[in-house]
Amino acid sequence: MRLDRECRTGEALEAAEAAYEAALEAGDVAGALRASHRLALIHFNKETLAEGLKICLRAETWLRYCQDQAAIISLQSVHGGILVALGDLETGFALLIDCQKRTKSCPDPLANWRARTAYAVALFDSNDFDRAAEAAAESLNYAETSGLAKGSVLIARSISSRMAARALGEHRLARKGIDALLLARTEEQLQSILIEAQAEKLSYEIAECHCYLGLLAWTRGEDTAAAGRYVAAIAACQVAQDEVLEAETSYWYAYLLASQGAFDEAQSLLAGVEAMEQVLAVPRMKLRHFDMRFRIAEMAGDWRAAFDHHRIYHELVVEDYRRLASARAYTMKLALDLETMRRKEDSARLERERLLEENLRLAAEQREAVLASRTDPLTGLGNRRELQLRCRDWADTGVTHAALMLCDIDHFKRINDVFSHSIGDVVLARVADLLGDARAEGGLAIRMGGEEFLLLLPGTRAADAAAAAERLRLRVQDHDWSEVAPTLEVACSIGLADWSLAESLEAALQVADANLYAAKNAGRNRCVAPAS
Ligand code: GH3
Ligand code: MG
Ligand code: MG
Repeated sequence: MRLDRECRTGEALEAAEAAYEAALEAGDVAGALRASHRLALIHFNKETLAEGLKICLRAETWLRYCQDQAAIISLQSVHGGILVALGDLETGFALLIDCQKRTKSCPDPLANWRARTAYAVALFDSNDFDRAAEAAAESLNYAETSGLAKGSVLIARSISSRMAARALGEHRLARKGIDALLLARTEEQLQSILIEAQAEKLSYEIAECHCYLGLLAWTRGEDTAAAGRYVAAIAACQVAQDEVLEAETSYWYAYLLASQGAFDEAQSLLAGVEAMEQVLAVPRMKLRHFDMRFRIAEMAGDWRAAFDHHRIYHELVVEDYRRLASARAYTMKLALDLETMRRKEDSARLERERLLEENLRLAAEQREAVLASRTDPLTGLGNRRELQLRCRDWADTGVTHAALMLCDIDHFKRINDVFSHSIGDVVLARVADLLGDARAEGGLAIRMGGEEFLLLLPGTRAADAAAAAERLRLRVQDHDWSEVAPTLEVACSIGLADWSLAESLEAALQVADANLYAAKNAGRNRCVAPAS
């Protein structure tokens, strides 16, 4: 019982694999889950169940980080379906029932329909045909009433009618009573699907409809009509190149032929199936094969063959139980491998995050250190290193000359001595603030060391800076120092100089220093500009 037509093509697998990679690349968790669902569904359809299981287990990494209920439900539905098909009914149904619970809090009808369908298909794969038919009918009802896209409703209708047909066929096989109303309704549904499939030339769907319409005709006791359907179905299977469905049809047809006494024809049909590699490689089909062989041999009265086939059938049943156990062991082993992988991934991720944090911290520290190495911590002004760097920048931007003002606080030692060192610190910071105003005009204020500051005014001549120097001196002198200490008074001396950037800064500083010395000598609290 396989669902999706597109899943049967090879390109589908490639496209889904590419979508998975793209989602990984983009860190799109829900996308990775959706692509995984698609991949797993394709493997499910192709009967490559172990591959499908691996995909599901791999995707569990994403489940942990995913908030998207629809994506989780879709993936877990197919995961459960695969486990059931592999024979691990317990784990498989537990997952499927969990999915049904999740649907109650999920508003996505497509995911919810998937959960219901997967449950029906799993019942079918575990040979519980009656309940499968019921669940499929319920799923169809949901599809029709929840506003799903037409394509999904069609798939739902097709699954539901095929399951109903199969359940009815099994009833006839077991000589149980047949629900005539259900039979008529199912037949009608299959007829309408067949018309659509024929209009769109979908050979697989055509084959399926013929097969199950044949089964329904046989259930009614209309053998001739049934035989016609089976022949049509087998022809369509060959067009669609689907051996599993061809085998399924052949079994029903062989059973019909045998019941009419046409044993040779029945046997040759079964021999044809035996030549199909793909069919006997699928465990549930192999089981079905020997089931049919012994039934038909019995009908033919060939007790020897019936016994042999029955023996093989029973060996397969036992093998199936073993398979169940090994499927579970296999699942556990894979899960364990994946968990180890995930742990490694986790610790690698943690390590990466730690390194990143460490890098960020170091970078911040480095930034601070660079800043600190250029800044005087007491006054916040630039230091000699800042001076060098800034002068280099100026030269690059085409500044040709600057005025220098070397400013030294008068009798600062005395301030320290009379008012304390910490008051001295406050004075330094205040003077720095007063100097800092010059920065607004594009100038640069530097603490050269101790109580000596330098102001640079790029693009200005010392002669033109004299007035600014005088304003600065007055600002220091007139500042309200009593706020710092009641009897405190502060004054400064300033020596000016011209600096042509073509010459060395040191030479210009020597001139400024000489003028400062002159200011001190002349009685302090004054400015001395170079003689023009
Ligand atoms: P002058 O008028 O000739 O410049 O005399 P002065 O006392 O200002 O000059 P001097 O060079 O004799 O003294 C400078 C004092 O500045 C000496 C030193 O202890 C003090 N000093 C240097 N750096 C700091 C500092 O960061 N904080 C404080 N509070 N004092 C400092
Ligand atoms: Mg001084
Ligand atoms: Mg000094």
